[in-house]
Amino acid sequence: QAKGAGRNTQRFFDPDMQAAVNARSNLEADLRQGLARGELCVYYQPVVDHRARLLGVEALVRWRHPVRGMISPADFIPLAEQTGLILPLGQQVLQTACGQLQRWGERKQTRHLSVSVNVSARQFRQPGFVAEVLQTLQGCGADPRKLKLELTESLLLGDVEDTIARMEQLKREGVGFALDDFGTGYSSLSYLKRLPLDQVKIDQGFVRDVLTDPNDAAIVRTILALAQSLDLEVVAEGVETTGQLAFLRLHGCEGFQGYLFGRPGPVEDIDAYLSHEL
Ligand code: C2E
Ligand code: MG
Ligand code: MG
Ligand code: MG
Repeated sequence: QAKGAGRNTQRFFDPDMQAAVNARSNLEADLRQGLARGELCVYYQPVVDHRARLLGVEALVRWRHPVRGMISPADFIPLAEQTGLILPLGQQVLQTACGQLQRWGERKQTRHLSVSVNVSARQFRQPGFVAEVLQTLQGCGADPRKLKLELTESLLLGDVEDTIARMEQLKREGVGFALDDFGTGYSSLSYLKRLPLDQVKIDQGFVRDVLTDPNDAAIVRTILALAQSLDLEVVAEGVETTGQLAFLRLHGCEGFQGYLFGRPGPVEDIDAYLSHEL
């Protein structure tokens, strides 16, 4: 019997649909428990310059499920957003990333590294978000100038004035901002100019076929030209081949992230990357 169904209402459930509903609520309960049990961890992926020198990393959440093994964020971030679990999840990732930032800040060889953290629109719009970020940084003793928050264009569907005000409060303390998955969303060029961004990230969907699809090539060149004229840094995501790298460099891209340089992995992988670099 469906909960909340009105009197004399008959509900017919398609068994497949019922199975999907059950799977979803199991996953939700599992995620809630996983968060409490510390099953979520943070992987880091290198962000590099054209000589493959490490500029920083992107923090990417992973879920070490006790039964199902490693689960990728694509399989639980949407659910986390729908259920509000993205709030404690996002805070855990931020806490971990700031702790790492503090440790890197202590050593001369790693002091220059920045850490980029993905922030969901829902998380960013929480009333206490700005204070939470600043408290986390301070609590860890991490340098705010080395933290970058990655926002997506979905934020532009909400109150843009409020978004700008929040960004500015954090920017005053030194925190940087990147617009993630650029080109896939809703942004109009006028917003791109108004938002106090430091960086745009070209979505991997455009990079993938940049050598074979003239439309993707045109989009990538346009984004690079636009970023240059607005004085924004650009990081290309999903760089997998030297051909893609050459194209991106030729058109002025200066930051790169992708399997060509390194997959997301535990922090030890970043230490290993650095030791090969030196
Ligand atoms: P994103 O922020 O755009 O992160 C880049 C994604 O591209 C990552 O997927 C990364 O593993 C993948 N990637 C990097 N280089 C390559 C490449 O060369 N080829 C291919 N095919 N893929 C590459 P991942 O880690 O599965 O994360 C997926 C998305 O989940 C992220 O996309 C981000 O939107 C979201 N996400 C991850 N961690 C968090 C988090 O802590 N909070 C929030 N709100 N979202 C997160
Ligand atoms: Mg990102
Ligand atoms: Mg992205
Ligand atoms: Mg993405």
